[in-house]
Amino acid sequence: MPTTKPNILLVYTGGTIGMIKDSKTGALRAFDFKNLSNKIPELNLLDCEIEAISFDEPIDSSNMNPEYWSQIATIIEENYSQFDGFVVLHGSDTMSYTASALSFMLENLSKPVIFTGSQLPIGDLRTDAKENLITSIQIAALQKNNKPVIQEVGLYFEYKLYRANRTTKINAEHFEAFASLNYPDLAESGVHLKVNKEHLLKPKKAAKLKVFKNFNENIGLVKLFPGISKALLESIFSTPNLKGVILETYGAGNCSTENWFIELLENTIKKGVHIINITQCSGGSVAMGQYETSEKLKKIGVISGKDITTEAAICKLMYLLGQKIMPKTFKITFETPLRGEMA
Ligand code: ASP
Repeated sequence: MPTTKPNILLVYTGGTIGMIKDSKTGALRAFDFKNLSNKIPELNLLDCEIEAISFDEPIDSSNMNPEYWSQIATIIEENYSQFDGFVVLHGSDTMSYTASALSFMLENLSKPVIFTGSQLPIGDLRTDAKENLITSIQIAALQKNNKPVIQEVGLYFEYKLYRANRTTKINAEHFEAFASLNYPDLAESGVHLKVNKEHLLKPKKAAKLKVFKNFNENIGLVKLFPGISKALLESIFSTPNLKGVILETYGAGNCSTENWFIELLENTIKKGVHIINITQCSGGSVAMGQYETSEKLKKIGVISGKDITTEAAICKLMYLLGQKIMPKTFKITFETPLRGEMA
């Protein structure tokens, strides 16, 4: 029986993972991904075919934006039928945002899209890039009964595969740079690659991939702090064309009950601006109405972000605004998990 190896497409967008040190100057520069297997001969040992495609000009992920998200989605869309899995190489700084955005853009995804990167360049002696890259490719190539095991957007870093839209970058120097505090790991790489099947997203059967590229960027993110001024909030909420604001509140979704604050939020909602309540804690969920300090928010129509990350909340808000959801159904749509991003 002829066996066909899985075809994996690597998409290099930029970031430390694709850099090598110039031996003469010591400066970091992006290396040519077409010569990938010269740099990492271990790739030839993997039981899959690998092709690589790179952004014309690889970027530091601090320069990421929705236009680049669309470029990544387009590459996946155009190559979807030819490949069994995708590995996106991306700077770690904004990886959770891009990976969350892609999870919303790719509806009915039934193949793995695995984001990875590294803290040290691929050519460094102590690099984490090789393990991250090799295991990400292995995960993207995992199949059972000729079907991909992972059928969602994942993020692999330092021996763990996470659901991408549940991750946050938590450390700027540790190899363990990401965490998923509100959702269990999808897989762990040790002596064996252990996939936690019960936590995987199961796509709708036989539904065709749909790719959405419209984002509305007229949104804001406000982190509350004791003493935040009325003038500052008034100026943010009167931003021209503002369509939505993510409000990072305290604990389980609590905020000040001062009249001026609640009235400001209420008037903003009346103007048609959506306000989403998420917690500034790294783990746990908003439970509006649990305390008096959040009950008022519930009454005036603030949307509950439940246990969503800030990164996923930003992407979901831009995505849903881009879908032109009717104002009446916006709240219920936001509060519904679309890609496993919230409970
Ligand atoms: N500044 C880099 C970036 O996010 C860091 C990294 O690659 O991890 O592109």
